[in-house]
Amino acid sequence: MTPGQWHDAVREAELEHFRATHRYCGRCGAPAEPASEKSVRCTKCGEEVFPRLNPATVVLVTRGEEALLVHARNFSRPMYALVAGFVETAESLEECVAREVMEETSLKIRDIRYFGSQSWPFPSQLMVAFTAKYDSGELEFADGELTSGGWFSREKPPLLPTPPSLSRQLIDAWIEGKLR
Ligand SMILES: [Zn+2]
Repeated sequence: MTPGQWHDAVREAELEHFRATHRYCGRCGAPAEPASEKSVRCTKCGEEVFPRLNPATVVLVTRGEEALLVHARNFSRPMYALVAGFVETAESLEECVAREVMEETSLKIRDIRYFGSQSWPFPSQLMVAFTAKYDSGELEFADGELTSGGWFSREKPPLLPTPPSLSRQLIDAWIEGKLR
């Protein structure tokens, strides 16, 4: 699938999901109807609503030549991936990255830098990827979301998420030595 085809397929699926979940006005409860190709409007109070995205972050944390890969309780395969999580209200993307890493692994990180982003329509997510460096702390999976993980070398990576996820692109960039 080309990036253009992916874009069109995501857009179509997302707009269908949006229309199916916005049949009534969130303000007054009256029925809503399509107002444009990508919005609906309340038939009573006129409130117009557009599709909303839920931003989430993923981060590749490195410590020297090694990177932090983790296994989450909800993974259906014995694979290792990156620390990830949804951005919370009032948070910047960088704050989200630092909080997720602290909550899930008890590690403090520094040098948080943007890597790339990807529409992830399952549903309505926008994945934003970052790199960061280990700062301090001992690895501990305190909050129960992650069950295991550790520092892996490029030469011996564990089973990884399948392409074309942004997580996998970021891990591949690290394995191929393409990160700064
Ligand atoms: Zn209304």
